[in-house]
Amino acid sequence: MSVAALETPMMQQFLKVKAQHPDAIVFYRMGDFYEMFLADAELAAPLLDIALTTRDKGKPDAIPMCGVPVHAADGHIKRLAELGHRVAICEQVEDPRAMTGRRLVRREVVEVVTPGLVGDPDGIDGRTLVALVAIWWPEEGADANGRRFGLAMLEASTGDFRATELDVDAAVAGSDEALPDALLQELSRIAPREVLVPAPALDRCRAALASLPGPIVVTAAPASAFASLRSSEAWPGIGQGSDDPGTRAARAVANYLAENQPFAALRPPALSRYALADTVVLDDATRRHLELFENSEDRGRSGTLIAELDLTACALGARRLARWLAYPLRSPRQIAVRQEAVESLVERDRLRGRLREAIAGVRDLERLLAKAMRPGAVPRDLGALRASLRALPQIVAALRDEDAAPGGAWLGSEPRAAGRLEAPEPLPELLELLERALIDEPPVIARGSRGAQETGYVREGYRSDLDALRESASKGREWIAGLEAEERERSGIPGLKVRFHPVHGYAFEVSKSQLAKVPADYERKQTLANVERFSTERLREVESRVMGANERAAKLEREIFDALRERVAESSEPIRAAADRVATLDALASLAEVARRKRWVRPVVDESETLEIKAGRHPVIESVLGRRGADGFVPNDTRLDPAGTQILLLTGPNMSGKSTYLRQVALIVLLAQIGSFVPAESARVGVVDRVFTRVGASDRLARGESTFMVEMRETAEILSQVTRRSLVILDEIGRGTSTFDGLSIAWAVAEHLHDARGGEARTLFATHYHELVALAESRPRIQNAHFEVREWNEEVIFLRRLVPGGASRSYGIQVARLAGLPPRVIERARTILQDLEAGSLPGGASKPRASQARDGQLFLALEPKRSRRAAAEARTLDALRQIDCNVITPLDALTWLARAREELARAAADEGEEGSA
Ligand code: ADP
Ligand code: MG
Repeated sequence: MSVAALETPMMQQFLKVKAQHPDAIVFYRMGDFYEMFLADAELAAPLLDIALTTRDKGKPDAIPMCGVPVHAADGHIKRLAELGHRVAICEQVEDPRAMTGRRLVRREVVEVVTPGLVGDPDGIDGRTLVALVAIWWPEEGADANGRRFGLAMLEASTGDFRATELDVDAAVAGSDEALPDALLQELSRIAPREVLVPAPALDRCRAALASLPGPIVVTAAPASAFASLRSSEAWPGIGQGSDDPGTRAARAVANYLAENQPFAALRPPALSRYALADTVVLDDATRRHLELFENSEDRGRSGTLIAELDLTACALGARRLARWLAYPLRSPRQIAVRQEAVESLVERDRLRGRLREAIAGVRDLERLLAKAMRPGAVPRDLGALRASLRALPQIVAALRDEDAAPGGAWLGSEPRAAGRLEAPEPLPELLELLERALIDEPPVIARGSRGAQETGYVREGYRSDLDALRESASKGREWIAGLEAEERERSGIPGLKVRFHPVHGYAFEVSKSQLAKVPADYERKQTLANVERFSTERLREVESRVMGANERAAKLEREIFDALRERVAESSEPIRAAADRVATLDALASLAEVARRKRWVRPVVDESETLEIKAGRHPVIESVLGRRGADGFVPNDTRLDPAGTQILLLTGPNMSGKSTYLRQVALIVLLAQIGSFVPAESARVGVVDRVFTRVGASDRLARGESTFMVEMRETAEILSQVTRRSLVILDEIGRGTSTFDGLSIAWAVAEHLHDARGGEARTLFATHYHELVALAESRPRIQNAHFEVREWNEEVIFLRRLVPGGASRSYGIQVARLAGLPPRVIERARTILQDLEAGSLPGGASKPRASQARDGQLFLALEPKRSRRAAAEARTLDALRQIDCNVITPLDALTWLARAREELARAAADEGEEGSA
């Protein structure tokens, strides 16, 4: 490209801006477009699916460029940020119309949108959070006390700003790659779009964070960003004086916001602290397996617990409820506070109805506040904010009304004060101001646009100077309109019209055929195809008065609007406080509404180690199947405690209901610990500290790991982290490998969970390995159970009822038939099974014991044809049957396994040779 092309004043200005933002795509404002140039254009055009063109088309060395219209820019900016890019928005900061001469308009970057700081929240779903996280950790050599990580997270558009601290475990402290598990887990729970880390740790973090789901952009922050606040803004609580890890991380977040979106940092949200030890740890795998927020089918919301639970009336409440579910509580006292509130709402239909109705009038107050603080705010944003403020007194009234009602004087005065519903503080002065200042339906105005449409949103009577300007403008317009008749008469041209053109202003329009009659004092202004337009001195005079008044009125409205925005910003603290209370009320009312509609009950939540559920149901599946009737959901009981039935071992065929039951129990526990009622007749939940869920053969191939590897890693995680307070849900672990491998692993894991001192977690263990039934004989706290199944005409009927004892048969073949396997295959399988059960095993093995021989899943792997391989397999099986599981040690089992595998492999290899010979 020629040097000349880059040397125009405009490109020089662009290059200067670009030099200040080398890592961002620069959106360079030119009139009604944002243009991108050079490498930015080449990068962005394909991502945004827009045409890549060139400046000075045709020249071989022209500058690559692309652009988007200003009114549609927001979507494009968000798209680039989502894809992990930064966008620097460079605006014209002076009005080109007000300029004289051919000087270039001044331009400045007013905002940098980054993956974690999206800027304008418009168009973001109310439930979607765009989080930015900063992580701080101690330098090498810090003493044992100092070795703690700090984590801060900011959702800029909602003002959610939180920090916590985590211990660095010794293994990680010495490693260059690893991050502590707890940190990774918290990150996966927050699911940030962008993570700020100290610059020296950039590579280490990139590697460690790559294992998290979803794309995360890792951005380096200088050490100084963690040390002190760079801007003078008063971020409460994170300035000088305190140097704990959480504060340091919070400073990096604050500095990043101030640097990229300075206007948003003018009224910073307050930092709240949280301790991970106060809430239930839910790792990524558990959230997925339990389908709390995303279903496993398409990662969508349908079929999830949150979808079942969320009857909130506004976005504030929806987000609050989702947060509660992401962070279930551990303290029975705190849980009781929520339960009290939920119960009080369950019991009062009228109050709940009125409350939810009032809350529905609240728009997304938090995001509207963020919008109001942005330079691109439009009058309609303040209109929506005003509507939300109007709803606040109605919420108060709904609560107070109940207070005054007979028997309802509980609010605030009853001893059950813990469950009191806290009303938001209305903001009457701000509301009154907005009512007075803005018209009923303020218009939308495109970002930064200027022109006629910008006026008219300030209410008449609010400002006398504005009214005066408007009056003189409208008088002038009326006078001009009146001229039409006057001039027709004077000129004798009946078709003469007064016309207005936004650029050329007012004119008298005369058709070409009538031109001869035009009076002498008419001055030609514009010639069109069939008409000509004229002006007169008087017209020009009045016109300039009208235009001047219009322009001044527009400027004045802009000033008034900015002053209103400022007033809103000044009220950011009480607005956030009100939004916080509305969010809580909405979430509570939603839980109450769900409890009422679905007849859930309030569980007892205490410090005991018991888990006792009477007639529990799966909250999601129940609502699909319905509650009653032949095909309705069948409730089941649960009783677990570390001293009695610590591990419930569920055996039985596929489709009998094992997985559903496992999840149902975990979901009931989680519901109880967020303060919700639960789908059961009654429940007692001794609080759990963690829920672990592992599902065999779950598929994460997309992330480049073999399923079995994932399963084993997840299982290892459980065994190393489980405590006596945990709830462990193991569904068919070991399924991702060969039968023998899988069986032995499942076996050893079950033993470990039983025998580990201090880690006797309440456990539900579903398996199709019947052999595990024998564990209960040697392990007193393991109990067998299965789902009742009835056979009828060779069909299997699943009764879905949990009964004690191991399953006697696996019904594999019947299930295979139900699933539509071809009749010939089914027939063949049945013959083989009969042979097996009769003892005529291929390979001449002796008759197996009935209970084991019936495990179709083990034997279907056998080839009926006699071969060396089949013989070896039969021998191995036979040997397996001889093993007394009550006495064999895990080490012996593993040795045996290794030998068995070797023998089988050798036999298979031999057979291969035989075949080819
Ligand atoms: P398994 O894990 O034993 O293979 P699932 O838990 O996957 O069985 O259950 C299979 C199907 O049976 C589920 O999709 C569900 O529709 C139904 N089901 C499970 N439990 C119940 C129940 N308690 N009442 C009614 N239907 C149930
Ligand atoms: Mg299952």
